[in-house]
Amino acid sequence: MRNHSLKQRLAIAFALPVLLLISNFALAQTASATNAQGKTELLWLSQAGFRIKSPEGKMILIDPWITGGPKTPPQYKNDLAAIGPIDLLLVTHAHVDHIGDAPAIAKANNTKLYGPADMVTPLTTLGIIPAELGWRFNKTGRVTPLPGIKVTAVQAEHSSLLVWKNPATDKLESHPAGEPMGYIIELENGFKIWHMGDTGLFSDMKFISEHYKPDLVLIPIGGNFTMAPDDAAFALKTWIKPKMVIPMHYNSNPMTKGTLAEFQAAMKGSNIKIIPMTEGETVQF
Ligand SMILES: [Zn+2]
Repeated sequence: MRNHSLKQRLAIAFALPVLLLISNFALAQTASATNAQGKTELLWLSQAGFRIKSPEGKMILIDPWITGGPKTPPQYKNDLAAIGPIDLLLVTHAHVDHIGDAPAIAKANNTKLYGPADMVTPLTTLGIIPAELGWRFNKTGRVTPLPGIKVTAVQAEHSSLLVWKNPATDKLESHPAGEPMGYIIELENGFKIWHMGDTGLFSDMKFISEHYKPDLVLIPIGGNFTMAPDDAAFALKTWIKPKMVIPMHYNSNPMTKGTLAEFQAAMKGSNIKIIPMTEGETVQF
């Protein structure tokens, strides 16, 4: 057996516990990965509406324009309950193609509706949802609404107005409904989804992406009210640079003419993975 110098013996004495620590850490990592090994599943309902099933089985519903959406799959359009129990409800702004059926779903599930502060307030003061079901972000803010799930509100360049039929007069009323937003949704296994809401280009998309590092971005491409395919491709290639992207907010309104083919053409040469979806389709991660 070789004789070790004092220096070598000291090195071994220090290295062993470190090696043990590293192997323990690796075991812990494997164990936690095993706990959260379920997949993330996304269902596209049309427009900006998605249902996300988290790795631990929590159901998150965003911008559910279901009964009024022209492209909503019939099994949900004709039966709102078919969407299933919802654990977390997120709304990006008050326009009808986003708030949609959110108040009805909040009440049916007794689920809190999270949204911009000044959108949630009129929902409760007008009696559209009970006060205890409204949860107010402001233009920013982070909440942990479910164990292991973090939601951060981020900027979106758009507007927000609530149009409501007052049952006492049977007339439509317009109510200011705060600032629109997007959401960074971090799931139990650390997978991060950026639902951008409705937005035009703004250069802090770069900051948001560098800071929060989303794995998957849901980006509007329809144009007219939001980015068009070329704007969305510019933002993704120049600023956001995610691993994967799902285009949304097109194909539901004749005014939002942007197409998947135009988006794919504008993204040519990029190594960002485009995941094209049709309404009613699910995809897993
Ligand atoms: Zn919209």
